Amino acid sequence: MHILHLSSELHPYSKTGGLADMVGALSRNQAANGLTVTVLSPLYRGLMGRFPDLRPTDWRFDLRIGNHSQSGRFWESRPTANLRLLFVEHAEFFDRPTLYGDARGEYPDNAERYCFLSHAGALLARHLPDPPQWIHGHDWQAGLLPLLVTHCRRFDGWVDAPRTLLTIHNLAYQGIFPLEAWERITGLPRSYLHLEGAEFFGSASLLKAGLMHADVLTTVSPHYAHEITTAEFGCGMEGLLTLRRQDLHGILNGVDYAEWNTQTNPHLPDSYGPGDLAGKARIKAALQAEIGLEVRADRPLFVNISRLEAQKGSDFLLDAFEQVLDEDWQLAILGTGNPQLEAAVRRFAGLYPGRVAARIRFDAALAHRLEAAADFFVMPSRFEPCGLNQLYSLHYGAVPIVRDTGGLHDSVVDIRESSERPTGIKFWRPDAEALAHALRKALAIWRDSGLLDHFRWHGMTADFSWQRSVAEYQALYALPIDRR
Ligand code: ADP
Repeated sequence: MHILHLSSELHPYSKTGGLADMVGALSRNQAANGLTVTVLSPLYRGLMGRFPDLRPTDWRFDLRIGNHSQSGRFWESRPTANLRLLFVEHAEFFDRPTLYGDARGEYPDNAERYCFLSHAGALLARHLPDPPQWIHGHDWQAGLLPLLVTHCRRFDGWVDAPRTLLTIHNLAYQGIFPLEAWERITGLPRSYLHLEGAEFFGSASLLKAGLMHADVLTTVSPHYAHEITTAEFGCGMEGLLTLRRQDLHGILNGVDYAEWNTQTNPHLPDSYGPGDLAGKARIKAALQAEIGLEVRADRPLFVNISRLEAQKGSDFLLDAFEQVLDEDWQLAILGTGNPQLEAAVRRFAGLYPGRVAARIRFDAALAHRLEAAADFFVMPSRFEPCGLNQLYSLHYGAVPIVRDTGGLHDSVVDIRESSERPTGIKFWRPDAEALAHALRKALAIWRDSGLLDHFRWHGMTADFSWQRSVAEYQALYALPIDRR
């Protein structure tokens, strides 16, 4: 079976968050499991220079979208015989300093850029010598593709078009633009702009187009699959997701333990494992020195790595730590995002030198060192489709403190759920008081080294490898599809 993934991010080539990790790891693991896998993603700025494995193909094309002609070219990397990574070149759309926006906000033509990506995906699926049986799209950026496939099957003679699956990594991003721009941006007729099509509260939504037209829908954890059918988490899409509940599945992401490991990790100055934490203690001491914290083994180190956004609870995280100032702890934050939250984090670090450290940048190597040094990992997300950092934390022996939502609900075990195999601390209300209460629980665990070891052991030996998720996706690709 041949699967074509369409994604706006692909680790290690491009990444702003978990989407890149997921598509990179899922495609590699699917190929290792015997599927033929192609991934299509944009050729962003600098990729040709940084990745010498990329080669231009002689496949150049012109697409007519609306009244415009758009030219592109595919670049290729071939990591293994049955894994092909293709990158679509279009300088005007993708040769930009960052993926989605700059200091002024999102790029105004994002809908146009990723509709072009969907069109390139359809072209590829239709003309590859070994056409895919499934197109597996990711998030709103791939939302047009299921509709394009439906349209071409009905009106453009693509009778053996592949089946389509759309994975929701984050429902809050919906690919919205004005209805008037529909034909120009998508190249499709306005007849799709209705309640059961791409119209969404008076605008057009690429995500909704995909959710209405994909044969199968998935999201990245079972609990989030349930949550998004409710008004609290559905971002306005809960009605249609409830309608499509039979086709909506939750599959938890896995961890790429080849990259995220504590034994043979080029980013770590030392190694350690579940039975031997001496290396972890040395990494903690080195990290404390590196980022200007007091070098003290007897202070619990809390870490937070995330996009600094309200989604991630970054706005009440500092208040919670302020509420437990009477206790001894250290905090390290690595993140970028909302400028006001960035400033607040910097200010907080300035107030408590030696105790709080902040690094406002994207730094993958530092993320590994921080996870390895951490005693606790704080993840107070308001919503979390899957979340990867709590999975990395479990493996790295940093006890996760998480809000009980989405993938955090599915992957962390609170001691109230199992006193035999607890792995972390869960709290419910997304506010400073509830998080402060959870921090006090963490500090109590810290003072009881036997209990801390109990949590760490179960977290570090929990298995979130990709094997299980790959099998679950494969079961979906085998489903019979009724297209009437
Ligand atoms: P999301 O995709 O919503 O941002 P996830 O937890 O699923 O959240 O994935 C976040 C990924 O991005 C993780 O691999 C995390 O380590 C990484 N990450 C986020 N911010 C930074 C940063 N400032 N520096 C390094 N890595 C980061």
